[in-house]
Amino acid sequence: MELLKATESQVRVYSRAFPMIFNRAKNAHLYAEDGREYLDFLAGAGSLNYGHNNDELKKALIEYIQSDGVSQGLDLWTTAKHDFVEAYQNIILKPRGLDYKMQFTGPTGTNCVEAALKLARKVKGRDGIISFTNGFHGVSLGAVATTGNKNHRGGAGVPLSSVEFMPYCGYYGKDIDTIKMMDKLLSDNSSGTDLPAAVIVEAIQGEGGLNAASAEWLQALAKLCKKHDILLILDDIQAGNGRSGDFFSFEAAGIVPDIVTVSKSLSGYGLPMALVLLKPELDIWNPGEHNGTFRGNNMAFITARTAIETYWQDDAFQNEVRAKSEILGKRLKAICDQYGPNQFRLKGRGMMRGIACASGELADRITTLAFERGLIIETAGPDDEVVKCLMPLTISEADLNKGLDLLTECVSEIMKEEMSQAS
Ligand SMILES: *Cc1c(COP(=O)(O)O)cnc(C)c1O
Repeated sequence: MELLKATESQVRVYSRAFPMIFNRAKNAHLYAEDGREYLDFLAGAGSLNYGHNNDELKKALIEYIQSDGVSQGLDLWTTAKHDFVEAYQNIILKPRGLDYKMQFTGPTGTNCVEAALKLARKVKGRDGIISFTNGFHGVSLGAVATTGNKNHRGGAGVPLSSVEFMPYCGYYGKDIDTIKMMDKLLSDNSSGTDLPAAVIVEAIQGEGGLNAASAEWLQALAKLCKKHDILLILDDIQAGNGRSGDFFSFEAAGIVPDIVTVSKSLSGYGLPMALVLLKPELDIWNPGEHNGTFRGNNMAFITARTAIETYWQDDAFQNEVRAKSEILGKRLKAICDQYGPNQFRLKGRGMMRGIACASGELADRITTLAFERGLIIETAGPDDEVVKCLMPLTISEADLNKGLDLLTECVSEIMKEEMSQAS
């Protein structure tokens, strides 16, 4: 640990909260060099929806490597790409009535966001983008301009322009309709709000603190975009790939975004890969206009296709995820009910839930104790006040309950300390 501490840049994050050297991982478990076993409720920040070293995915990947399948092919057509695209179209898009072209970008979420923003600006011939309070869309310059977080924005070092922030669903409380506000601003010639090329939004805000937009709000947003000739970019990088209980996080609202950004759990194996889904009529790119060496990671194509074929051919996995979401919701609600809304509030939707604590400090004490007890769980939100459960969707019910037992126990111990200090 000393070597890493001394030589790795201070920019590191997760190794601060979880200072341990890990050497093995399986499904919802991480193992440290010293032999300690951890339950993983972080799951690669949502990039391991199918767990660590998923057996089905691993088998397909090993076979591909053994057969000398193409590992790096720029954006050449390969069998791996062909078969992934075929599976994604047939198993994911077509049954949902979605007609999208697929753009493979550099293999990070932020790069597919860059591509989406560039394309929207090119299509509409306008530079403005509307993003939302607490939105997180990545940290490269174009994407970080649409990210709300002060720490991330501060790292840019140049002015972040051409983006306006509007209040997300519920930002001013339940009774204020923020879409109505936006409509008024966009309709008033003197509001000072220029017509943007696109709106970028998460259906469930991940890093921003597990704020889940209501279906009605998303529907109203889609309608607003149509009315004002604005493209709707839905960032499904974290909430997608089954996390919400549907394959896409926007399915429950029944909306069809113009552009969808996908990454994190897309490969299913933690291999880097990113994808932009765009309506066919928007595909006005010049060849190579948004370029990159690693567009389309062939090994990721293999595991991504296998994940789709293994988990999304029928409803079985989705039903399993929904059943676990119920357990997760109930158990977290029990914590909130015990201490009341001034201490803890339930956040999120599907398998993307957590509890907002009274302060970031309280959340930190809980997650620190949890780590000591063998549970890896992170915080999110403007003050890191939300304890965020992002376990693999493939976690066993026994492990899910075990992790939640641990979390409940940590909350109760910290709250006991709190109360004894207060009295
Ligand atoms: C993680 C994330 C990104 C950025 O993805 P990277 O791979 O970290 O660049 C963008 N949008 C959302 C919603 C994310 O959760």
